[in-house]
Amino acid sequence: MRVIPHPSPNRDARMGGAALDMVILHYTGMETGEAALARLVDPSAAVSAHYLVEEDGRVFRLVDEAERAWHAGVSYWQGREVLNHHSIGIEIVNPGHEFGYRPFPEAQIAALLALLADIAARHAIRRDLYIGHSDVAPDRKTDPGELFPWEQLAAAGFGIVPEGESAVLADAGDIPADQLAACWHQLAEIGYRIDANDPYGKPADIVAAFQRHWRRGGVTGQIDRGTAAAIASVRDQIIRLKEAS
Ligand SMILES: [Zn+2]
Repeated sequence: MRVIPHPSPNRDARMGGAALDMVILHYTGMETGEAALARLVDPSAAVSAHYLVEEDGRVFRLVDEAERAWHAGVSYWQGREVLNHHSIGIEIVNPGHEFGYRPFPEAQIAALLALLADIAARHAIRRDLYIGHSDVAPDRKTDPGELFPWEQLAAAGFGIVPEGESAVLADAGDIPADQLAACWHQLAEIGYRIDANDPYGKPADIVAAFQRHWRRGGVTGQIDRGTAAAIASVRDQIIRLKEAS
């Protein structure tokens, strides 16, 4: 695929021996793609990503995959922290919740899928380890957000989506209070850091992060019946993928 070089100085070495085995997806959250591209190469901003995907489908390479880009910040997933060491970061141009969040154009998603196929040919990335910035930093981040078409990625083999009847997954009814503890246990098994005293997110932030990714029709921060069903399905798939790997 055609990638436009646009090198960023905001990079350093990956930790020795760190496995590169996950992809973290972001939106740029700025008014234009040009502004985002300028910021991601500005030394004073001290942020970057490996790739940026424009709305028209152009793909820019900012940091070589062998090096560490500075995209995830303070982060946690499945027992690991400082995820920049382990991940490829992709910025997807979108103004985001602050500047006019809008659907991701088809050309942009097609380019992203081609890029992911390219990355998957070079690195062994388990199917569930294509995740969002909000998953790994629920207290600070909402990107790529609930308009991001995770189902389209999953259909191409990148990431997973909840399995089950759509009526069950959409059920906004209350769940019995005694089932909540099981849901929190499953959220921890999925990968979220669940700890009331930690800096990674209040309970509502973590539930909202799960919903932005896996229950996009209802981002409430509350575990309802549909969210509980989605949590159980995502958890089961991740356990199976871990066992098979
Ligand atoms: Zn981000």
